[in-house]
Amino acid sequence: MTSTQGVPIHPAVDHGVPKARPGFSGGVLSCHCPADPVRVHVGAQTAHNHVCGCTRCWKPPGAAFSLVAVVPRDAIRVIDGQDLLEVVDPGAAIRRHRCRRCGVHMYGRIDDKDHPFYGLDFVHTELSTDQGWSPPEFAAFVSSAIEGGVDPSRMDGIRSRLRELGLEPYDALSPALMDAIATHLVRRSGALPA
Ligand SMILES: [Zn+2]
Ligand SMILES: [Zn+2]
Repeated sequence: MTSTQGVPIHPAVDHGVPKARPGFSGGVLSCHCPADPVRVHVGAQTAHNHVCGCTRCWKPPGAAFSLVAVVPRDAIRVIDGQDLLEVVDPGAAIRRHRCRRCGVHMYGRIDDKDHPFYGLDFVHTELSTDQGWSPPEFAAFVSSAIEGGVDPSRMDGIRSRLRELGLEPYDALSPALMDAIATHLVRRSGALPA
């Protein structure tokens, strides 16, 4: 089998997927501004970290995938640069807050209490120099990378590389998260006890 090591996915996994540190309880995310960056304290370990091929998540320059995880919304505290934050698309279900100077997304929040993921904020752990965040576990919305500009002929190589890294490629979210969404919808309809 030919190695797919040269297929870039995201700088945080291209040289191997890092490991979580037992007992890790959060850290600080900083935007890319060289001076006076926006800083957000995350007071919890992340969950469901993954690489994502969608066109909405913030990606570092040149990357085909983003790296995105969730934390309880109560864990997010903006400690510097609150006035620099703006919502990327006020109409989107996830209100992604970005630095208006460098464009980096600091956190994404859901305000709709009926949304399956209400209560969770989306964060990019690569914005932190703290080591020990939960590592990516899978790859979401892989086919959408084409919409992000990846040539379709590269997709086989990308899927092989994702599997080599242990990041099972899905064209939606992982089965666990898709099941969580479906369960939420069925419960809301009254067909399952809450
Ligand atoms: Zn910035
Ligand atoms: Zn995404």
